[in-house]
Amino acid sequence: MSDVLLLNADAQPTNYLPLSLISWKASITYLWMDKITVLDWYDDWLVRSTNWETKVPAVVMLKKMQRRRAYSRFSKTNLFIRDLYTCQYCRKSYTRRDLTLDHVVPLSRGGETAWENVVAACVSCNSKKANKTDMKPKSAPYKPDYFDLVAKCKRLDLPNKHKSWSTYIS
Ligand SMILES: [Zn+2]
Repeated sequence: MSDVLLLNADAQPTNYLPLSLISWKASITYLWMDKITVLDWYDDWLVRSTNWETKVPAVVMLKKMQRRRAYSRFSKTNLFIRDLYTCQYCRKSYTRRDLTLDHVVPLSRGGETAWENVVAACVSCNSKKANKTDMKPKSAPYKPDYFDLVAKCKRLDLPNKHKSWSTYIS
């Protein structure tokens, strides 16, 4: 279980894609190793062992800046973020469960699985389109950069387990 928001030394999450979360056990270990500062605690969550007791951190910050990987890997989740969970044919919003990846130029016609040839599509548009090429997405697919994805990610619902997280994520 990942319940602790991990921030870099600049107080921004170390990663947004996916959001940098660690388990409470890892947070306690980092604390003992003096690698982090706790910025917020869960008020009503205590963990106990035979000779110690502690509250569980909700937000922790690294003492030393960690390098960020700023690239946008092609993945289903990242592609849905680029398209804001919207079908690129009918423009309606969907949940992840109702969206599929659609190859603009079908695989059967030599289309590639790449940012520039794949869009989010709802099941109904996807089956209407099938192997045809005359149905075009509303906007041309493109390779987003990392910061573009992070900005879009912030417009979508990010996990928010503790009330203080929104301060650091937004
Ligand atoms: Zn659709």
